[in-house]
Amino acid sequence: MREKQRKVLVKQSVPGQEYRKLLKEIGKAGVKNLIVDVPTEKITQFLRHAKEVDMMSEYHNYFITSLDLHTVDLEEFQYVGTNISGFQLVDETAPEFEDVLHGLSTGLEQRMKREKSYSKTELALMHDAIKLLAVTLQHINRRGQDIDFPVVSCETEQPWPQGHYFVSYMRMITTRGLTGEIKFDKYGFRSDFNLKLNELTQEGLRHAGDWNTVMGISITGNMSKAFAEVKASLKNRTLTVTSLMNPPYVSLTEDTLKGNDRYQGYCVDLIEEISKELGFKYKFREVSDHTYGKKNQWGEWNGMIQELIEGKADLAVGDLTVTYERESAVDFTMPFMNLGISILFKKPTKKIPMLFSFLSPLSLEVWVYMVTAFLGVSLFLFIVARFSPYEWTNPHPCDPNPDTLENQFTLLNTLWFTVGSLLMQGCEVNPRAMSTRVVSGIWWFFTLIMVSSYTANLAAFLTAQRLSSPIESAEDLAKQTSIQYGCLQSGSTQEFFKESDISTFKRMWNFMESARPSVFVESNFKAVERVKKGNFAFLMESTSIEYIVERNCDLMQIGGLLDSKGYGIATPPGSPYRTLLSSTILKLQESGTLQMLKQRWWKNKGKNCTLEVTSQSVSASELGLDNVGGVFLLLFIGLCVACVIVILEFIWKLRRVPIEEREPLCLELCNELKFAIMCKGDTKPIRNEPVLPSNNLSLIQFSSIGNIDSKDVVS
Ligand code: GLU
Repeated sequence: MREKQRKVLVKQSVPGQEYRKLLKEIGKAGVKNLIVDVPTEKITQFLRHAKEVDMMSEYHNYFITSLDLHTVDLEEFQYVGTNISGFQLVDETAPEFEDVLHGLSTGLEQRMKREKSYSKTELALMHDAIKLLAVTLQHINRRGQDIDFPVVSCETEQPWPQGHYFVSYMRMITTRGLTGEIKFDKYGFRSDFNLKLNELTQEGLRHAGDWNTVMGISITGNMSKAFAEVKASLKNRTLTVTSLMNPPYVSLTEDTLKGNDRYQGYCVDLIEEISKELGFKYKFREVSDHTYGKKNQWGEWNGMIQELIEGKADLAVGDLTVTYERESAVDFTMPFMNLGISILFKKPTKKIPMLFSFLSPLSLEVWVYMVTAFLGVSLFLFIVARFSPYEWTNPHPCDPNPDTLENQFTLLNTLWFTVGSLLMQGCEVNPRAMSTRVVSGIWWFFTLIMVSSYTANLAAFLTAQRLSSPIESAEDLAKQTSIQYGCLQSGSTQEFFKESDISTFKRMWNFMESARPSVFVESNFKAVERVKKGNFAFLMESTSIEYIVERNCDLMQIGGLLDSKGYGIATPPGSPYRTLLSSTILKLQESGTLQMLKQRWWKNKGKNCTLEVTSQSVSASELGLDNVGGVFLLLFIGLCVACVIVILEFIWKLRRVPIEEREPLCLELCNELKFAIMCKGDTKPIRNEPVLPSNNLSLIQFSSIGNIDSKDVVS
């Protein structure tokens, strides 16, 4: 993550000169956090001058380096809301304090209390120094060592011979004084001391935390109390709200009204709801340069963000997207609306019905597979029928001893049979053998499913008025160059494409940047006009698209969202109101107020385009192999089963031929297959078979691996 860059500006005041000029310069530089190092007696003057030059708002923070801030009268700054804080070394809770004050005469004690001079750091340090000296002497005395105090002259530099020893001893001593624990490190500096952090509140200076060498800073302030104070301070405030005119968020009313009544929209109502909750007043204003806020190459902001930084506004509201870059310059509340970038495009015109649109329900792939299946199954049935001995029948049923057997499945008959089944019609040819019946059965099943699917989808195709859009997604846009596309200039959408690392969006950014005339549009209104003219797609935030599509029935949203983000209320950096505003937004969200506001501003009271769109969008798509692949598979399995059955039939029939007349099984199979494939007519001579006893047959003479069934003989 990029580190936040902090600029430090150092300004020195000319002694004897007033602070106003200096403070004005600091204010112009946009500095809000100041560390002030002025003499204690000048603190009030400095703060007064700051107030005069508008440098004392709730967005300013002053840290006073003087350790005597607690002795300064800050009453006049208590209610301005500026954060003023400083450290204090003197520990007023130390028991020594009481002792010191008791030791004073009553008059002096009261005067010192009034002037707070008893707790001046310098005085306390002096007290502690003398105390330390006394304690050191006591220690040395207790050890029985003599200390000489020779007469020392202030004129000559003459060291005290025992001074070194005395100081070393002093360093080892630890005692308590008016400035807390007195302790020294090996260099003779105070160590392990504590600084109290004081903060100015409406009740005066308040202990807000501590600093010491071990723990560093620790804030112990009461957050809920601070929160309540900020809430109380808001009650008397009139906040300036900057916004950009873009319906339905904020727009000008048509009437010639005055003040806030001139503005209307979702965000105006939102601020009204929040102000009712928090009790502040507000004043709407239009952002002077009509932009949201973008940083230039010199790091300067424009638009609403700039107005916040410069203190021209306390809040910025509208369709202002929360972005990382903006967040580093101003503060944002939690989002009150979630959205993403999508595409606004003109609705395609209705497709002219095609002459061969009856082919549409099935994809080309499926049609090809179906024709192949039809030819394949016909051929297969033809071969199986010729192979199966049960399909060879007596051509003259009255003749009990025919010479030849006949097969009804000629090539033409077979084709006629399969076509008849495919078109749900019957024909005279009927399979007799188990194998041919399996083939026919599975083919009938196949045709049943295919014809039903085709009929159902054809109905859907005829009902739906298919709309054909040349683009369906951002990828489609990126792939082509004939349709122009762009986005709002100086907005977060432009920034999104500029900064994106995703190759599609990068490609889109390059296209948009190089497009002439420019595809970056000034406002959503102008963008809508351009999209309506056609051949232009506009990358826009989904909530705005929703609003536009509802009112312009010839426009539509293409594809889903390219990202996910939110709109938030922006405040100047370090604004004390941010948390309060966020929690109020959350409250409004939970109570359903935000949803109600959205309904109010998005729903079109007149004609409703969305309904039209939904009825039109009942579309049908052609059936692909994915949809009907299973039926083809089933057909294939059925054919395999038929294959096995026909071989079994053949073997079964071959058993009846005397062994001496039979060839080996494989050879018999090959011969029969060859005969079946060669298509040598639809009759064949009868092969001799033994006469089988039968109850209902008077004479059955099997002379071929063919069949004369009872129907043929006894009729
Ligand atoms: N909401 C955007 C912004 O805050 C403006 C609209 C856009 O860029 O599409 O910058």
